[in-house]
Amino acid sequence: MAPPLCSDHALVLFSGGQDSATCLAWALRRHAHVETIGFRYGQRHAVEMTCREPVRAALASPSLGPDHIVDLTATIAGLGTTALTTEATIAMTEEGLPNTFVPGRNLLFLTCAAALAFRRGIRRIVAGMCETDYSGYPDCRDDTVKAMQLALNLGMNRRFILETPLMWRDKAATWELALSLGGDALVETIRVETHSCYLGDRSRLHEWGYGCGKCPACELRADGWRRWRGDVSNGSGR
Ligand code: ZN
Repeated sequence: MAPPLCSDHALVLFSGGQDSATCLAWALRRHAHVETIGFRYGQRHAVEMTCREPVRAALASPSLGPDHIVDLTATIAGLGTTALTTEATIAMTEEGLPNTFVPGRNLLFLTCAAALAFRRGIRRIVAGMCETDYSGYPDCRDDTVKAMQLALNLGMNRRFILETPLMWRDKAATWELALSLGGDALVETIRVETHSCYLGDRSRLHEWGYGCGKCPACELRADGWRRWRGDVSNGSGR
């Protein structure tokens, strides 16, 4: 029989990127026990998966529990191609969606996370979806996450709580959140150890982290860093 859900236990969707690393630090400050889950899905930036363990090590605390990796490569590749899972050129589609959008990806991630949380007695599922800088991904919207919470709770007869601490923060505010959670040390861990670049480029370290500097993920990350640092120099930030 599955255990009852513990309200102070959390499962963080942790990809190895800036957002999910910030979510992990956020969850560790709030919840007594925190586990992580990551997904392989044939992402062209699979290098992000190798960033997970160094970040977990840097954030290690008595609250940090086990890591779980779920391989959805065959599932997602079997459904068709996208620019995030092939070498296709990244562009916008006619309907205004980036072709890096993997249909159903975040819905699948949340479903898998809830299925694991069910078995492990974890009530809280923490994810880095963000509507402010959502890059046009409809599965990052607040309404999508709220609808998923309802569907998962009905479908699994549980009361999971989906927590999205970044939902209304832009990338500059996400850096500021990291600073408030763990000071300069956490900012530096996220800057150097996490990965956002869609092309998987870790050959160049910029002021905002590693990446090609040109793909949409790099542009978003670099722009957020610059706006945050600009706020700092204007005296309105840290
Ligand atoms: Zn890039």
